[in-house]
Amino acid sequence: MEKDCLFCKIAGGEIPSRKVYEDEMSLAFLDINPVNPGHTLIIPKKHFENIYDLNEEIAAHLMKVAKKISIALKKTGVDGINITMNNEKDAGQVIFHSHIHIMPRIKGDNLPMWPGKKLKDEELDEMAKKISSGLART
Ligand code: 5GP
Ligand code: ZN
Repeated sequence: MEKDCLFCKIAGGEIPSRKVYEDEMSLAFLDINPVNPGHTLIIPKKHFENIYDLNEEIAAHLMKVAKKISIALKKTGVDGINITMNNEKDAGQVIFHSHIHIMPRIKGDNLPMWPGKKLKDEELDEMAKKISSGLART
């Protein structure tokens, strides 16, 4: 429990939420400001700031929960689902307690998608090399 963390307070029941799922490691509840009805946030009960420090076992567990919630949302009649996680301020993270967004899509909702950049082959090759060597060092 991190002092002054909104999602720690939600996990601890100190602040109410519209809970849709809970188990020993995680909690899922409706986003208060949804992109579409059913927009759900999945959080670890323990405080981790983002993907970098998130415990590996919990990370895998959150993805299992994401699958369960997605299947339940699909049954409500949505036309598609986007799953995202914002990490760090520059990536749009506002609440610094790691969370996964499960965002229902409705045909014709026209929500903006990320534009793709055209990169040169050399730039793509260089990035692939950098990422692989970063992985080799972990
Ligand atoms: P982020 O930008 O950090 O990835 O997303 C934070 C999300 O938390 C936003 O989509 C926002 O609407 C949601 N949110 C912020 N405050 C509250 C709250 O008090 N209750 C709930 N249920 N969601 C919240
Ligand atoms: Zn927290």
